[in-house]
Amino acid sequence: MSSEKRYDAIKAIAELKVEGPCPPAPADIEGYGEDVFNLDAMQKHLPKAVFEKLQATIEEGKALDPEIAGDVAHAMKEWAISRGATSYTHWFQPLTGNTAEKHDSFLETQGCRAILSFSGKNLILGEPDASSFPSGGLRSTFEARGYTAWDPTSPAFIKRHGNGATLCIPTAFCSYTGEALDRKTPLLRSIQALSGATKKLMKCFGLPDEKVTVTLGPEQEYFLIDRHFYLLRPDLLQTGRTLFGAPPAKHQQLEDHYFGTIKMRVLNFMNEVERELWKLGIPAKTRHNEVAPAQFELAPIFEELNLACDHNMLVMEVLRQTAERYGFVCLMHEKPFAGINGSGKHNNWSINYGKRNLLNPGSDPDQNAIFLTTLCAIIEAVDTHADLLRASVAGVGNDHRLGANEAPPAVISMYLGDQLSEVIDQLEKGEHKSSRHGGMLRIGVDTLPPLPQDATDRNRTSPFAFTGNKFEFRAPGSSLSCSAPNVMLNTIVAEAFDRMAESISAFPKKEFHAKLQAHLRGIVKAHKRIIFNGDGYAPGWLEEAAKRGLPNLRTTMDALKVLTKEKNMALLEKYGVFQRREITSRYEVFMEDFHRKVRIEGEVALEIARSMIEPAVAAEFEKTVRTLGEARTVTVSKGSSSLKKRASLLGDGLERLARGEELLAKALQGKHEEILEAMQQMRVTVDELEKLVPDSSWPLPKYREMLFIY
Ligand code: ADP
Ligand code: MG
Repeated sequence: MSSEKRYDAIKAIAELKVEGPCPPAPADIEGYGEDVFNLDAMQKHLPKAVFEKLQATIEEGKALDPEIAGDVAHAMKEWAISRGATSYTHWFQPLTGNTAEKHDSFLETQGCRAILSFSGKNLILGEPDASSFPSGGLRSTFEARGYTAWDPTSPAFIKRHGNGATLCIPTAFCSYTGEALDRKTPLLRSIQALSGATKKLMKCFGLPDEKVTVTLGPEQEYFLIDRHFYLLRPDLLQTGRTLFGAPPAKHQQLEDHYFGTIKMRVLNFMNEVERELWKLGIPAKTRHNEVAPAQFELAPIFEELNLACDHNMLVMEVLRQTAERYGFVCLMHEKPFAGINGSGKHNNWSINYGKRNLLNPGSDPDQNAIFLTTLCAIIEAVDTHADLLRASVAGVGNDHRLGANEAPPAVISMYLGDQLSEVIDQLEKGEHKSSRHGGMLRIGVDTLPPLPQDATDRNRTSPFAFTGNKFEFRAPGSSLSCSAPNVMLNTIVAEAFDRMAESISAFPKKEFHAKLQAHLRGIVKAHKRIIFNGDGYAPGWLEEAAKRGLPNLRTTMDALKVLTKEKNMALLEKYGVFQRREITSRYEVFMEDFHRKVRIEGEVALEIARSMIEPAVAAEFEKTVRTLGEARTVTVSKGSSSLKKRASLLGDGLERLARGEELLAKALQGKHEEILEAMQQMRVTVDELEKLVPDSSWPLPKYREMLFIY
């Protein structure tokens, strides 16, 4: 019987022994960063002069002195070997969306002797055969070479497996002719662009030259399901999401999972994840149950953007690998289960000038002027280039999530909160009243101290929300690299800062503040349509947004198209983030990726329908018809009408299923819209049949099992 495997899976999970509470032991904090070649390790292992040069590159962004590469490589190798590594890899982020690695051992032979060695050349440059990575036509096979180039601003680290370890060196990946083939290169370029523009803007306020640091804290959502179930679902295995599955009676409507008590099995997993991340110097901080059953979140303390992006790639990897060791599978897909919340990756972003967070509303007038200038520039940037922000989060998985009344709509708007909106209103009207101060929050229990009220309240329905001292971009999907959204964010803000600096640098010192105020007023007037503090899920909002002329790019296809618009190519080129060829090639890669993924989904759906669902329904139909016939021969009259009804329901389902299969097979010859449409239609049929066919005959693990049995 086809459900035996399902029942076996349930039994295996039921019998699983979960490790109980542990006796008190020293905290794992001791090992924080022990597998990272960080400044501490560098100082210990490098000659002083070399260390200082490397530190200047890392901390002040000075160009790397190639002379020191040999010494750094040697020290890195010694350190790595002392920590058990025998191999190294350049670790990079091709356009597949994953990380890539090709390992080489430190082994060198001298006659019949073996030694361990690692040269400066091997540290700085790698030459992986690039021909099998997506390049969108940037690299023809005859020039298949690609280069990986050491990024000294993201420290090398050690990845461990069962019986060994590998030194991983974060690198950028580019073609023989110097075009970026990865996600890190444009990110670094965009940080440079924003850094330059910020300096220019701060100079207008008479501030001395300081280092600009863009910061990111990405909140990572994910699902955990038991591996036993996962292995019985070809759709999850091949596409990362369930293509069939009727929502169970109870899923998330009781709102009892969010922040609920974390099951011990999950907590054991989370703790192990934290231990692994801490060893890698990744500051995992927050963990909790999310809204959907079996959905969770991990948030780190924010870090410098480039490092935070690398770290998020590692977070996803550690989550996946640790899950396996705990008998789970970690689903990072944006929408693994239809009808139930999907997963996102909230992108908390800010800019620091020296020690000053530019998005911190200040208490003194000078800081306030800088804050308001920054804010207005960002308003202008987001309004002018909402399409680019939307394009940066496009992807096959996110199409199921954005605008599905659980995630922000595909329309980009900004949420500022009441207090800040009031300030902006005053600015627009030219009033000088000082803003209402964030009052104290009293909760009516005298024994509790009054709490300072945060300057912002929370609005979870906005795609781009000001949250106190940072902006939180909530449209990115859970599986995405953090790179693309931040590349766009940095670039559009760089442009706005640049324009702002050009205007205000001409203001005479004496009237600076008055002129600045008038200038900001103009910006608010021109761009306030992007501000929306209301409910982003409310049905009226999309109409209102259309009236305001805000773009609503609903699908990946619509969103990706904007990449090649002249205004956008010109912008990205102007700020040195992408050459035109790099944009068109990325457009090709992302389009192709989308189409291939849709096609794979269609093929998997068809195969499951034909080889698993249809046989189960047919067997049940035959059985019912046979029983009906037998009932007639012994002239049992009662009960046969319900058998008849059942047979006809099953027969009808069987026919609809056959028609659906035919339609999908045909759609697979055509366009992606047809495939998606045919899959959706077939899903309706299959999900109805799931509720009709006896539980003991249903071949696929059900939602209630995957989401609740773990
Ligand atoms: P919530 O879920 O309420 O949005 P969390 O505390 O879970 O809040 O996550 C907030 C994230 O924002 C954390 O990763 C935090 O480190 C990050 N963050 C806080 N301040 C900044 C900042 N100045 N720049 C970037 N990220 C920040
Ligand atoms: Mg958040």
